[in-house]
Amino acid sequence: MRVLILGAGVIGVTTAYELANAGHQITVIDRQSKPSMETSFGNAGLISPGHSFAWTTPKLPGNLMKSLFQKQQVFRFKPHWSPGLIRWGLRFLQQCTSENMKTNTNRKLLLCSYSQTKLHDLTAKTGLDYDQKTNGLIYIYRSNETFNEAKDKLNLLSSLDDKMELLDTSELITIEPALEPTQSKLSGGIYCKTDESGNCFKFTTKLSNLCQKMNVTFNHDETISRFETKGDEIQKVITNKNEYSADIYVMALGSYSGLFAKQIGDYLPVYPVKGYSITMPIFDVSKAPLHGGIDEDNMLAFSLIGECIRFTSIAEIAGYNTGFKPSDFSYMVNLAGSLFPDAFDFSKIEYWAGLRPMTPNGSPIFGNGTMKNLFYNSGHGHLGWTMACGSAKITADLITGRKPKISLEGMLLN
Ligand SMILES: Cc1cc2nc3c(=O)[nH]c(=O)nc-3n(C[C@H](O)[C@H](O)[C@H](O)COP(=O)(O)OP(=O)(O)OC[C@H]3O[C@@H](n4cnc5c(N)ncnc54)[C@H](O)[C@@H]3O)c2cc1C
Repeated sequence: MRVLILGAGVIGVTTAYELANAGHQITVIDRQSKPSMETSFGNAGLISPGHSFAWTTPKLPGNLMKSLFQKQQVFRFKPHWSPGLIRWGLRFLQQCTSENMKTNTNRKLLLCSYSQTKLHDLTAKTGLDYDQKTNGLIYIYRSNETFNEAKDKLNLLSSLDDKMELLDTSELITIEPALEPTQSKLSGGIYCKTDESGNCFKFTTKLSNLCQKMNVTFNHDETISRFETKGDEIQKVITNKNEYSADIYVMALGSYSGLFAKQIGDYLPVYPVKGYSITMPIFDVSKAPLHGGIDEDNMLAFSLIGECIRFTSIAEIAGYNTGFKPSDFSYMVNLAGSLFPDAFDFSKIEYWAGLRPMTPNGSPIFGNGTMKNLFYNSGHGHLGWTMACGSAKITADLITGRKPKISLEGMLLN
């Protein structure tokens, strides 16, 4: 079959790889000059089934309200108008109950774990190197309150029971000696020995090179503008340069998928949640962490990216704007320096911001909507790197009429 994949982020490229492996003729279109230049570029790099927790907790609405009045909140709502905000926002808030939190966490964990096995299959088969670190991730708690909450929440990840270790501060320092100077400010940690990290941009770039060797065509610098449809089928995709026809189309446009779904009469509940990252060289390796992880009280994720370290944080509902100014990062820069003092060269920071394609329940959307020849693979939120390889396999299975290996409950358009 001729398959046209819309979007060359980590989701589009992994889907191209799966479908090319299954013998299909693939073309990928993207508006950027190369793959992985939008959200998949500067993410934290964590592959973290051990952090599959739903964001929509009973506490979240209160935190969003506070952000209207207090600066430097991790969760931020900036009042704005953009298409789809109210409908998506109401659905997002509806998810903020204990019951939904449990269901949503379970569903994410299932997909993340499945996806990690698919990533391992891919890596074993291709030998791809993407600065992967497979020595586990550490989740760090500063206050007793957050540490106690984390202990309570651990039972939500019961399938990872034997992989998660609760650590007091001295055990945490043994695993991660770079935290020693901060020890007095910490209350404990959780070590998930099977979680990993890796450079998503490098992975996606290398996988797209491999795909080209498998005869996948990448058409970059082309902006998709609209679809032509007939009945319940897409007939053409129109870009600023060309028109394309295919047997099957895959929507992997990240945060922009919802806008295009609307054109063909589908409501895809995907909205951008902006995050920020800083990447800088490691100045003193002996003071830098050995693991990636998360400073949980501050939602500050970090991972080693080659010779550098990257920190990401902040979940800001502010529309599609990816712009930033230096003051947006001061919160993160201060936290990074306080967590691992004297480890990094802050004079050489690379700043970045990107849009997490969030659904209200935190899981992506697969399968068809109105158009029988269009398949969604969109809305991977804060875990798209973790979920990519599994999502690609699920999409390839759906396209080729095979039953996906995991349940898609809550991940289909309805
Ligand atoms: C700060 C931050 C930290 C994160 N940390 C992690 C993490 O540690 N672990 C994890 O698992 N996930 C993480 N994520 C989430 C992860 O990065 C995303 O879920 C994932 O990158 C989404 O991939 P995607 O391919 O769907 O979207 P994208 O990478 O945005 O790809 C979409 C593609 O569509 C193209 N496109 C859009 N519109 C058009 C158009 N009109 N015409 C042509 N092309 C178009 C874009 O150019 C882009 O290449 C993080 C995200 C952020 C923002």
